[in-house]
Amino acid sequence: MAVQEVRIVEVGPRDGLQNEAAEIPTEVKVHYIDLLTAAGFGWIEVTSFVHPRAVPRMADADAVFRSIHKKPGVRYVALVPNPRGLDRALGAGVTYLALFVAATESFSRANINRAIDQSLDDARAVVEQARPRGMNVRAYISVVFGCPYEGPVAVAQVRRVAERVFELGVDEVVLGDTIGVATPSDVSRVMDDLLQLAPVERWGLHFHDTRGIAVANVMAGLDLGLTKFDSSAGGLGGCPFAGPGAAGNLATEDLLYLLDGLHIRHGVDLDGVMAASRYIVNAIGHPLTSKVFQAGGRPRTITAPSPSPSGRGLIKG
Ligand code: MG
Repeated sequence: MAVQEVRIVEVGPRDGLQNEAAEIPTEVKVHYIDLLTAAGFGWIEVTSFVHPRAVPRMADADAVFRSIHKKPGVRYVALVPNPRGLDRALGAGVTYLALFVAATESFSRANINRAIDQSLDDARAVVEQARPRGMNVRAYISVVFGCPYEGPVAVAQVRRVAERVFELGVDEVVLGDTIGVATPSDVSRVMDDLLQLAPVERWGLHFHDTRGIAVANVMAGLDLGLTKFDSSAGGLGGCPFAGPGAAGNLATEDLLYLLDGLHIRHGVDLDGVMAASRYIVNAIGHPLTSKVFQAGGRPRTITAPSPSPSGRGLIKG
């Protein structure tokens, strides 16, 4: 049956801001997240309790998490890489966790200086403390569709990692196209295989729009019955492995416009997301990459020009 409703995790405050060059004041992050809450998201990934030396942009994770205005029913997720991060997250009142492992050894070592086995040990230590507390855990697998160091990634390799991540006892696994190389046929090929491991509701998709194909990849996911997608308001985040100005995360505005056109429910207000994007664009110092944001949102009719004396029209293609 066609998908009727999806769940979006807004990742702009974490995955977006983490990859921005500009220093964003804590109070700006907090107001940004409050605007996203007002836009109606059920899930917002707000920050990351990584070591401040590794990701200086997230050094204020505690303050951000404590200061946001939490709307009842909204899941405010924090990324937690290891037990030390979990201690900080618990102190700040986090109950929804995200953790990450990589699909390739090269990316794991480059990204977090850990072999996949070691990162799974960290993840296990986090989950073992989180589960008895009733915390919800989502696990990202990065570079599922391609690795900047190893190139194409075999599905069997992804499945081996995913199998071990599910064994830890996480609620869902989110497949990341970290460098934005997937096309719809890749999504179908990979998911056909992985859906043998766990049902659709246990998988999320995290696309990057580096090559402009993210929305098409969402379509491929929807065709397979997937209902969980990550996106970032405005497309915030850039892509650290592409050139400056390259698009990063799938833009929330673009995703919402697609879903609205397909009459798929999502519970988020496009204008509200655009208000958040307009707010943060001043702080990041460069334009946002979302096509729908750039176009001003939904189409609006404008006043037609009065007939020109020459009798010629606008002659636009
Ligand atoms: Mg991302």
